[in-house]
Amino acid sequence: MPELPEVEVVRRGLEPAVSGSVITGVTVRDVRSLKRHQGGSEDFVHALTGATLEGAVRRGKFVWFPLRGSHHALVAHLGMSGQMLMGDGVSDFGSHLRIRLDLEKPTGEPVTVGFVDQRIFGSMALEQMEPVPDGHPAGRGWPAAEIPHSVSHIARDPLDPFFDDRAFVAALRSKKTGVKRALLDQNLMSGVGNIYADEALWATRVHYDRPASSLSVALSTTLLAQVRDVFHRALSEGGTSFDSQYVNVNGQSGYFSRSLQAYGRAGEACSRCGGLIVRERFMNRSSYRCERCQKPPSTR
Ligand SMILES: [Zn+2]
Repeated sequence: MPELPEVEVVRRGLEPAVSGSVITGVTVRDVRSLKRHQGGSEDFVHALTGATLEGAVRRGKFVWFPLRGSHHALVAHLGMSGQMLMGDGVSDFGSHLRIRLDLEKPTGEPVTVGFVDQRIFGSMALEQMEPVPDGHPAGRGWPAAEIPHSVSHIARDPLDPFFDDRAFVAALRSKKTGVKRALLDQNLMSGVGNIYADEALWATRVHYDRPASSLSVALSTTLLAQVRDVFHRALSEGGTSFDSQYVNVNGQSGYFSRSLQAYGRAGEACSRCGGLIVRERFMNRSSYRCERCQKPPSTR
């Protein structure tokens, strides 16, 4: 799954190309990629052709493109393997291209956005916008307090200027579950997945299974700061790439995998204490931690 930095890399890449651009053509190559769109492929093409995109907005792992003069947005769900690639009007994007948008920038220059999705877990949909419950702008890249229906239940992410740190710390400390499970809870905070949860927990020296309710306010605040720090560092390196699926709009992978301290490093020595990094089963996936500086809650 791409996490927040990988999706933000895509959003930043698309923003200058889509802002103020008119959709001149829509090609649906695979209708399975419209599974979340109500109305089928003909409706999708008809509704988007001639529309002007206002920008590229993100909350957590969701990215959407508000349509000018309409309370609708084109929402992209990247799923496990979705990519949004940018081309120059003649690009063909290969055999996994599912949806193609031809745009004309305000300068008159053509630009093409290809929604490429090998495993078809992602999709695109045109959705109605609804008011943001807290009345603030919905996410990165958009000043209006409107949000697509499918994103409205997702909590703000820690890079959102309207993320409420105190409310998050209080909500985290009210959870009796393990702290990593709480970090992954998209109703508490969005955008954090397995990779960055492990990295932030390593940086804070906290075991993933420690009850969230046992964290002090100070430690919870530090953990939140470490989540932000790892996001910022990953963004500066273009995100993390574990397979070739996570790419920017030009098809390039990020470099942050080299800077990971715990995730994916089983069997290696912890760079802080020299202890062993171990991989353990967690929620049907894996968790990585240092055996020595992230001790299980019972032996603390
Ligand atoms: Zn260690």
